[in-house]
Amino acid sequence: MDLDLCAAGTALLSFAAGFAVVVLPRSHASAEGERKGDAEALDREIEARVAERTEEMRAMYEAQTKFLADISHALQTPMAILRGNVEILERCAPARARGVTRIIAATLNSMARLVASILESARWQFAQDKLCMADIAVEALLQEVYDDCSVLAENKGIRLVSSCGAGMTIVGDKEKLKEVLFNLISNALKHTDPGGTVALTGREDDGVAEIAVTDTGCGIPEDRLQDIFERFYRIDGAGVVGTGIGLHICRQIVEAHGGNIAAESEVGKGSRFAVRIPRKSLV
Ligand code: ADP
Repeated sequence: MDLDLCAAGTALLSFAAGFAVVVLPRSHASAEGERKGDAEALDREIEARVAERTEEMRAMYEAQTKFLADISHALQTPMAILRGNVEILERCAPARARGVTRIIAATLNSMARLVASILESARWQFAQDKLCMADIAVEALLQEVYDDCSVLAENKGIRLVSSCGAGMTIVGDKEKLKEVLFNLISNALKHTDPGGTVALTGREDDGVAEIAVTDTGCGIPEDRLQDIFERFYRIDGAGVVGTGIGLHICRQIVEAHGGNIAAESEVGKGSRFAVRIPRKSLV
């Protein structure tokens, strides 16, 4: 009987980032299979339906991401025109109108940051299964990141130091991992006062490469430590601008490498972001 198949005909499938769930309806063909006692036919049909729905949802997800990317991209030009005109207004408006133009300019800037973040996030969704994997020498990776970031630290009067155990390799997409480390260092520099220190370190821990960025900055309240990796989650700090997308992208990239990222922090003392990637080699 059809009713007997309720349990067997219902398959749950976690999709993509685990946010979508497909519930398959009861199947007539499967019912026939079970009536005949043909469990294999039932299995095959369930598998085929799961694959079909997965493909449908993947296509929907891709279309939605593409739509977001197109919209964000299309918004950039009118916003640039608006900004250009507001700049002209700021220069020639009478003094009593300057406060208003300043507010418009600031609002436009935050809209521009938001649009850029959505675009960046959508781009990453597209690129995510196109990681360019190769053997990476961790020491050389950290040296490159250090060389690129030291001038930013110097400009802010912050000491940037780097150290790494020799000979450690991982398999990964070097450019994507650099993006993660740039993000973490840029955050550390944003939230640390001049005179502070930011350390970039690499070490091996039980078959895993751990790359950490530690700062002596303002710290993060313990009850926020999980939330900061969520998309668009921000903690408003005095004069610190941002979009709340950076750590979310970091987590996506690290997880695509089979690793994880975690934060420890103490308010007033500083924070430590540790990226852990399993050590292996392509050869
Ligand atoms: P954004 O920096 O654009 O706001 P992120 O996703 O990079 O977005 O960070 C989310 C939030 O986490 C930030 O708003 C900030 O409050 C907090 N945060 C991230 N890194 C640090 C850090 N090193 N020190 C203190 N707070 C941090």
